[in-house]
Amino acid sequence: MKDSLPGFNTRAIHAGQEPDAATGAVIVPVHLTTTYKQDGVGGLRGGYEYSRSANPTRTALQEALAALEQGTTGMAFASGLAAEDTLLRTVCEPGSHIVLGGDAYGGTFRLISRVLSRWGIEHTPADLNDADALRAAVRPTTRVIWCETPTNPLLNIADIALTAEVAHDAGALLVVDNTFASPYLQQPLTLGADVVVHSTTKYLGGHSDVVGGALVVADAELGERLAYHQNAMGAVAGPFDAWLVLRGLKTLGVRMDRHQDNAARIVDFLEGHPAVARVLYPGLPDHPGHGIAARQMSGFGGMISFRLAAGEEAALKVCERAQLFTLAESLGGVESLIEHPGRMTHASAAGSPLEVPGDLVRLSVGIEDVEDLLADLDQAMTL
Ligand SMILES: *Cc1c(COP(=O)(O)O)cnc(C)c1O
Repeated sequence: MKDSLPGFNTRAIHAGQEPDAATGAVIVPVHLTTTYKQDGVGGLRGGYEYSRSANPTRTALQEALAALEQGTTGMAFASGLAAEDTLLRTVCEPGSHIVLGGDAYGGTFRLISRVLSRWGIEHTPADLNDADALRAAVRPTTRVIWCETPTNPLLNIADIALTAEVAHDAGALLVVDNTFASPYLQQPLTLGADVVVHSTTKYLGGHSDVVGGALVVADAELGERLAYHQNAMGAVAGPFDAWLVLRGLKTLGVRMDRHQDNAARIVDFLEGHPAVARVLYPGLPDHPGHGIAARQMSGFGGMISFRLAAGEEAALKVCERAQLFTLAESLGGVESLIEHPGRMTHASAAGSPLEVPGDLVRLSVGIEDVEDLLADLDQAMTL
């Protein structure tokens, strides 16, 4: 991090969020206008013309996102997948090739394998932890290496700096989906990534009340190309959605601290529980990616997966018996969620290389009082 940069929480609260010049409003207003009065033909005030192209509430969010990820350009979209689609159709063309981690988010895999494939964009799943396999998967037409770390739901870790090296040797971009870590715990652009992708639906929004996505890039020229396509393709974040994410960002640091403090206590509990065969959490010293995670992240996050010794039926039962942990998809909100990836978030991966084990349970640990969370898991796991 550059010395001149204000601290993370200061940026989260202030970057792009100066008090309103006209009224002094301390909080960025929700600018619901679609259009802007021109002072003479083409005489724009502050560059605003039409709200698909630019909107002041969205601009504030975009500047804050760029500041948090230490990029030059931030862009806010209607969803994480809208951001991904815009990115991939900007940097790829028919005949382009994408290498992606073997357990990328299911929606990302579906976009690449079912939608973009119809426009002649090819892909190869690869193990991002095996540099030789990764280099072997790269082709002359490879434009993107797509990396998620930690992954969903297996919490695998990839070495961002090493993957960036492979991508750049091949003349490709390294894209990192930073949804699970959030910029508070990991800033991929500072490790050599070219593009960061977020589902702001998750930790950045943080309150399970808005669907959104974002891109942040290091290179300003790539930022301009993407901003052109953001406008040309039109999948922008609406002003109220942008405002909700902006409000969420302000507390990202304190929420993440609490998410991971609670997660650490729950990991301890699960590690000592006889019904648990294996806990998957990058903070555990026996996790295969622990060393890399400790190097490239400033904390291990609030997501935990674990496998039940008694198999799938036991996993389903735990999910259904939990009460304070709400049985639901998604993650990253203040409330704790529990789910069965094999039957819920990752059901569409059945039979594919991305299939997840049936005995797996995933927790998104919220910021409630940890004693209450532990008591709920304790009763849910008395099988
Ligand atoms: C949810 C999610 C996405 C997709 O984002 P949406 O906002 O649901 O479109 C992408 N990547 C990861 C890791 C996610 O968890």
